[in-house]
Amino acid sequence: MYHYDLLVVGSANADLVIAVERRPGAGETVLGSDLAVHPGGKGANQAVAAARLGARTALLARVGADDHGRLLLDAQRAAGVDTVGVLVGGAPTGVALITVDPSGDNSIVVSPGANALLTPADVRAAASLFHASQVVSAQLEIPLETVAEVVRCLAPGSRFVLNPSPPRSLPGDVLAACDPLVVNEHEARVILGEACVSDVPEDWARLLLAKGPRSVVVTLGAEGALVASREGLARVPSVRVAAVDTTGAGDAFTAALAWRLGAGEPLTRAAAYAARVGAAAVTRAGAQESYPTAGEVEGTAA
Ligand code: ATP
Repeated sequence: MYHYDLLVVGSANADLVIAVERRPGAGETVLGSDLAVHPGGKGANQAVAAARLGARTALLARVGADDHGRLLLDAQRAAGVDTVGVLVGGAPTGVALITVDPSGDNSIVVSPGANALLTPADVRAAASLFHASQVVSAQLEIPLETVAEVVRCLAPGSRFVLNPSPPRSLPGDVLAACDPLVVNEHEARVILGEACVSDVPEDWARLLLAKGPRSVVVTLGAEGALVASREGLARVPSVRVAAVDTTGAGDAFTAALAWRLGAGEPLTRAAAYAARVGAAAVTRAGAQESYPTAGEVEGTAA
């Protein structure tokens, strides 16, 4: 019996958002809206998404000893995430500076801050969290060598889920541990590189599987998802919703998928549940603020 359903190892960022009529060009200054500060970062998002669904969740991350770090910790605790693994200090909290125009297009500058200081030694020091966790998930907004150490610290019998975002080429031992590797189209194309000459998601899934992961999930936005393993490929339908804001939908999907896989559901069924969670998340503005509870997911059409 594991103490946690899910341990998320990843980033925590403060998203600083200003709405503008037009995003500035080089050397230009434009006036915008009041500043809005939201808790974000892929690791923090996944942890909140899982906990809101009812998963017993812990987060291993690093924030600065500053107001943004406190905002992120408060958001985790409010969602029910165990923050015993959140380290504080060493650099300012990671920040994403976001300008968004009326068409929804945005420009983003990320300062990794404390996320860049989450080290392999921090992972080793959290061995007790790894032994207590059924599933461990990670993303790539922390150093790649830290993610490689996560793979080495997995407890026997636990499962590893990776969303390689932002995408980069991955070492063989990290790829081999993924069950599944969860990618969107952009991530699939970057990881496949020149091998990706097709526009067909089934081809990406087959090529990705050949790189070593035990399973692959390709998320396809409003088109749902595609799951692939040695047993074959299957499409997972989307849920038809009026999308308001897709920010963080992929994080909600991956967290829900990891949780349901840990509960023993087969990949296709877990992905179908995750698609309902992703769909619910796009019906509301924001990332963490948009994540549904299990009861709200039950209220959506299957
Ligand atoms: P983001 O980077 O915006 O967090 P992503 O590109 O990683 O997202 P998507 O493929 O856009 O991931 O979305 C993840 C999942 O959420 C999809 O597989 C789908 O199930 C659900 N989803 C996303 N957008 C929609 C939509 N417009 N309608 C219904 N479901 C959606």
